[in-house]
Amino acid sequence: MVVAVLAVQGAFAEHERMLDKLGIPYVELRKKEDLQKGYDGIILPGGESTVQGKLLLELGMYDAIKQQIKAGMPVLATCAGLILLADFIENDDREYFKTLPVTVKRNAYGRQLGSFHTEQEFKGLGNIPMTFIRAPYITEVSEGVEVLAKVDGNIVAVRYQNQLAMAFHPELDEDERIHKCFVQMITEASGTRP
Ligand code: GLN
Repeated sequence: MVVAVLAVQGAFAEHERMLDKLGIPYVELRKKEDLQKGYDGIILPGGESTVQGKLLLELGMYDAIKQQIKAGMPVLATCAGLILLADFIENDDREYFKTLPVTVKRNAYGRQLGSFHTEQEFKGLGNIPMTFIRAPYITEVSEGVEVLAKVDGNIVAVRYQNQLAMAFHPELDEDERIHKCFVQMITEASGTRP
């Protein structure tokens, strides 16, 4: 198994550190040619969604990654990554992959509470440490989207088919369960491949 980490901007190194801890090989997606490398899942890290979205287009990576996700490639998206996947961004006209039928609100916690840490129930995993940094949250989900975690009544993690997306940064805490869950999704997806 090889995981691809989108490495154009943001907190990709922290995801790589987590993959190192789990002994999972990875490749970095920095340019169009990297999309030819063989891999079984993609991590979309946190960072600045506007910058990442712009770079994906400029580097000519956008269409191919979108097609890979639509074709069923497992994706783990955190924070800005969640924004890139969302069908709608309620406080921004920009749009990106639009493969995840949810609406997100960018910088949803405002300036005062821009960054915070909590520990909350994550469906199937128990209590998980959650670090939020100028995070979005999800304001609407379509049918078929499974809500995995809420903080103060706001949806902060979902799964939809091959996409696991969350508003917080599991790569910034020591807990490995979210990444293990993603590795499990990849194992299951490769098991169903013809
Ligand atoms: N505020 C960022 C955005 O709108 C996301 C922050 C993050 O990824 N930590 O893209």
